[in-house]
Amino acid sequence: MSLEDGDPLRPRGQQLSAVPRLMEMRDPSLRTPGGSGTDAMAAVGDKDVTPGGASQREWQPEEALMAELAELVKEVVKSSSWWERHGVDISILACSILLLPAGFLCLRSAQAVPFLAGVLTLGVVHHTLTVKGSHLASHNALTESKSWGKVWAVFFIELCSAFTVEQATYNHVKLHHGYTNVIGLGDSSTWKLPFLNRYVYMFIAPLAVPILTPLVALDLLRNVEWKAALRTLCCMFLGFYCHYWLLLHVSGFQSPWSALLCMLLTRSLLAHPYIHVNIFQHIGLPMFAADRKPKRIHLMSLGVLNLPRNPLLDWSFGHSLISCHVEHHLFPSLSDNMCLKHHGGALVDIYEKLPVPFGLVRFGVAPDHPEVKNVIHSFTQTARSERCAYYGNVTVGRDVTVPELQRAYHAVVLSYGAEDNRVLGIPGENLPGVYSARAFVGWYNGLPENQDLKPDLSCETALILGHGNVALDIARILLSPLQLLRKTDITDSSLAALACSKVKRVWLVGRRGPLQVAFTIKELREMINLPGTRAVLDPADFTGLESAVKDAPRPRKRLTELMIKTALEKPAEVQAAAAAGAAAAGAAAAGAAAPREWGLKFQRSPQEVLPSADGRRPRGVRMALTRLEGSGDSARAVPTGDVEELECGLVLSSIGYRSLPLDPAVPFDSRRGVIPNSSGRVQGVPGLYCSGWVKRGPTGVIITTMNDSFDTAQSVLEDLQGGVLDVSLSREGFGLVESILHSRGVRPVSFSDWEKIDAAEVARGKAAGKPREKIVDPAEMLQIIGH
Ligand code: NAP
Repeated sequence: MSLEDGDPLRPRGQQLSAVPRLMEMRDPSLRTPGGSGTDAMAAVGDKDVTPGGASQREWQPEEALMAELAELVKEVVKSSSWWERHGVDISILACSILLLPAGFLCLRSAQAVPFLAGVLTLGVVHHTLTVKGSHLASHNALTESKSWGKVWAVFFIELCSAFTVEQATYNHVKLHHGYTNVIGLGDSSTWKLPFLNRYVYMFIAPLAVPILTPLVALDLLRNVEWKAALRTLCCMFLGFYCHYWLLLHVSGFQSPWSALLCMLLTRSLLAHPYIHVNIFQHIGLPMFAADRKPKRIHLMSLGVLNLPRNPLLDWSFGHSLISCHVEHHLFPSLSDNMCLKHHGGALVDIYEKLPVPFGLVRFGVAPDHPEVKNVIHSFTQTARSERCAYYGNVTVGRDVTVPELQRAYHAVVLSYGAEDNRVLGIPGENLPGVYSARAFVGWYNGLPENQDLKPDLSCETALILGHGNVALDIARILLSPLQLLRKTDITDSSLAALACSKVKRVWLVGRRGPLQVAFTIKELREMINLPGTRAVLDPADFTGLESAVKDAPRPRKRLTELMIKTALEKPAEVQAAAAAGAAAAGAAAAGAAAPREWGLKFQRSPQEVLPSADGRRPRGVRMALTRLEGSGDSARAVPTGDVEELECGLVLSSIGYRSLPLDPAVPFDSRRGVIPNSSGRVQGVPGLYCSGWVKRGPTGVIITTMNDSFDTAQSVLEDLQGGVLDVSLSREGFGLVESILHSRGVRPVSFSDWEKIDAAEVARGKAAGKPREKIVDPAEMLQIIGH
């Protein structure tokens, strides 16, 4: 059972006479139960996780949840065979031991390949026995017998790993797990020397693990009873000596030094992946927090968030999944295999309008934010699951209706986002040269429907209406040096258009003040640091804000402080020139250093887009000056009666997105642009759910949307448990949909089809040094897969 992929609240094979079939549209991020698992972990984070421990106190909802979870885990354990509970892991360990003779014999060879195969075999075996074996033994997860548990612990921890059983168990299960659950037992962090250079920590120190481990153990033995200490010493000595003896007498090493070197090599062979997996598995622990040193570890923990599962790591280290490790912390006596045991019930089919998946991540996330797109690895992992199928090239509401889907599946989740944009409703909004941010983003990101946009970039000044992150994304793309964009997955045609762009000044105009901007600090910082550009902020806009923001929430405070700092800061060249009394020369020098500029304008609400004399483009926007009524986030912009004309030749309206209804059978709140729902349950339509922007409106980043989908998934699970979803009769799922699609001449695209398109895009991009060259024509995509 896995909290990542499985259902933590419903044991495998729960009283379902039919497999529940779920379908989801557009957002492949839905991992039905994953969120609930993570939530469960987070919820118990600061509590005593033992249900019984709560008896003297008020029974908290988290503890009730934990008790329920423990009960369900007990049922899963009860319904699992010995093979599942212990057999699989014991077999892996046994196979590893059986591989030892082969490993030692390979080292006899004078030829490189068998010799290296021997090193590799012994390295993997060593790590399997010392990491997987010791870990399971310290949890007593290899057997249900306490005395056998002790034998295994001595064998794996003392003989194989040269450590002490008592301290390993205490440090790992009591201290480390206690620390995870923040019950105040202390810091079990292995990173005791934060002053060390991060490279030493990450790349050199791991090589010394085989030497450091016994030294640390010897030190710890001072706190252990003498008989146990004696046993540990004997076992450690025996372990080392056997290894050394076998290298001399079986592998035929001639000198003690070469044997010792080989011992060190095999014992530290997988030390690096081990350190990395270890960090990966413990993401979220305070010891890997952003403010702890070495910072590199925190960054790494973020970097590996989307790593796919790896069989070698699963074999050697128990598993490479973070959530399974979380289960170890909650239920230490579960074996690795039990932690990996999946809930095999639900089948999920994903339908998507375009042939290619990943919606917003592919077509919305800015091309120069590749790290955000890493989430595609998680989506891919989900889509490749045998319980998940992807059907692209199917427009729900046209090729198949929602009621038809409801006939085919036990539950239907609508998780499409916001395909449309808000409109200003002012004169001139539809003039040539006025574009919605949505269309502009779609254009440079290769969204097929926006490829004909061909924006006119022949003017010097662009005006972006709105102070959100999309506005900053667009400003950055317009002003970025081409060499930065060339390395991204921006489409070739937009790159060519940007290469001819004359735009060198971008104003971002908001109707409210600096305390109400909707963008976030990371995006603002990127803009400030954009090479070849300079920020033009008017210090007068920020007068008195430093004290006004003192008590504001931290993100707002930091964001405002950054704007104030930028407004007051003069470029180095200007300062130098000013000091020399040559302001004009200084300004010229700054201009030369930063050929492009951008700025924020506040308290201006667009009234009309003014056409140029020939009507072929805007010449400016008339703005109503505003004053703020109220304070903080809820302040309202009220026109003062004064107006101002801002000159520009390009207008981009970035005032937010809007979802659209997709089927008349689905209720829709046209005013708010959302499907009316409660916790994702579509109002008045049992069995129909929604998630993402269509559920809560077009705000929030990917992680917000993921959490939101976990909430919807939780509702689906609750309805399954509560009998709201009738799963007593099986549903045909895709079988039924396929015949409907066939009758309408629609051919869906599978995930492996997408992988062919993906490979073609990556190959095209490679030639130009880009991660991919997106194919922007659906007909060409279909041609590649032979449709
Ligand atoms: P947004 O964050 O809602 O910002 C919309 C902006 O338009 C606000 O400044 C808003 O001002 C203004 N606005 C709305 N109606 C207006 C009107 N009638 N006249 C003048 N101004 C108007 O929307 P967004 O920028 O499209 O972003 C959507 C979501 O995606 C956001 O949650 C955003 O954070 C997220 N996103 C994140 C990233 C990233 O993480 N890098 C990138 C892109 C998007 P008021 O506040 O006065 O209404």
